[in-house]
Amino acid sequence: MRYISTRGKAPALNFEEVVLTGMATDGGLYVPESFPQMSKAEIADLAGLPYHEAAFRVMRPFVGDSIPEETFRQMLKETYASFSHDAVAPLKQLDSNHFLLELFHGPTLAFKDVALQLLGRLLDHFLAKRGERGVIMGATSGDTGSAAIEGCKPCTHVDIYILHPHNRVSEVQRRQMTTVLAPNVHNIAVEGDFDDCQAMVKASFANQDFLKGQRLIAVNSINWARIMAQVVYYFTSAVALGAPHREVSFSVPSANFGDVFAGYVARKMGLPVKQLIVATNANDILHRTLHDNDFSKKPLEPTLAPSMDIVVSSNFERLLFDLYQQDGSAIADLLETFQKEPTQLDAKAWESARELFDSFSLDDQGILRVIADAFERTGELLDPHTATAYLATQKCAKDAATPVVTLATAHPAKFEDAVIKAGFKEGAKLPLHMSDLLQREEKYSVLPSDLQAIQRFVAEQQALA
Ligand SMILES: *Cc1c(COP(=O)(O)O)cnc(C)c1O
Repeated sequence: MRYISTRGKAPALNFEEVVLTGMATDGGLYVPESFPQMSKAEIADLAGLPYHEAAFRVMRPFVGDSIPEETFRQMLKETYASFSHDAVAPLKQLDSNHFLLELFHGPTLAFKDVALQLLGRLLDHFLAKRGERGVIMGATSGDTGSAAIEGCKPCTHVDIYILHPHNRVSEVQRRQMTTVLAPNVHNIAVEGDFDDCQAMVKASFANQDFLKGQRLIAVNSINWARIMAQVVYYFTSAVALGAPHREVSFSVPSANFGDVFAGYVARKMGLPVKQLIVATNANDILHRTLHDNDFSKKPLEPTLAPSMDIVVSSNFERLLFDLYQQDGSAIADLLETFQKEPTQLDAKAWESARELFDSFSLDDQGILRVIADAFERTGELLDPHTATAYLATQKCAKDAATPVVTLATAHPAKFEDAVIKAGFKEGAKLPLHMSDLLQREEKYSVLPSDLQAIQRFVAEQQALA
């Protein structure tokens, strides 16, 4: 499998190179040159398989011969053994044709574990093969950092440095990062805000001299392996509901468009996906683009669903590339214009997106109402991100005969604020295996918001100083 850039100018890469590379050198994102096809029989055969085996069959064509088959099988077995539910991504029925796909049974209680547990192991495998060490640096306002840390915990060739704003993340979120005591895990509490953290990580990628030749790796949602890992649960849940003999729709809490794009990839591979519903919070660029063809930025609005607080949806570019018939220079032009001023998608491309995608946006008041209402109707306590998609299903589902799967992207205990505000005074209980989180030992370093100080710290820990 060869991977090409959405902006058409960077060299094509193989799977190993794509995993180790973040953004393409032309500023684009890597996508497969063509989507592998699964036949009806191959899809039907996924029924009843353990999750890791279904994962192997769906992902194998993307991986090709980059990893020996048995090694990859074993890697997937270990990856999904870190989930606390045997089914990994269990499906719950909410009413006659509405289902909830629980993607929060991983170590940090959010769907990002599904991909980051695998990405850590993939990186470790390739770096070990090359005899290299890799350094991961990332900034987090809470959520992605812990999933990345848990994903790297078992790695022997990767050191991870996660910057978070000191005293500005919730206690549960901080502890999910700082109670991981593995020697290759480094938590840095920066005396500044999230933007300071992000700016210092960006500057470190731009000038990597302080690493004296060690490889710096990004694990943000533009890494292709993250999309690939997410394609799997679209297949497993659709097959459980009767695919390939029956169509299935999905409703997805969305921000960077990585998760719902994985659903698009599943459809391209042959899964009969009827409709993809894109749910957003008040940061509604995806809804404005898909519903009104208004492709423009709007200032960030902090919401009760903070993991969906974005200005730009990075992975949307991958969809655009496909809608524009892989015309890299048209995508480069469109995004250059978009960075400067409000713009629109090409009418034909927008119309073809509308055949598959619907969208919906829900503000904070709506989120609180939905959490209360869904509990009353179904007995399920939804997290604020999932709440947006739950209502989007009711507003946008086109065809009553087609089952809709709403993706539950986080456990409600992770977002206690919203749950309490929605009227559940006790909050939501952490699952049993995490109930001692508040008693566990923590390890982190508090550093000033100063690039030199951060880079000196990393170099010292890497014994490069
Ligand atoms: C990251 C995240 C999302 C958004 O996923 P994208 O792939 O960025 O669209 C939704 N819900 C939760 C809980 C998340 O952590």
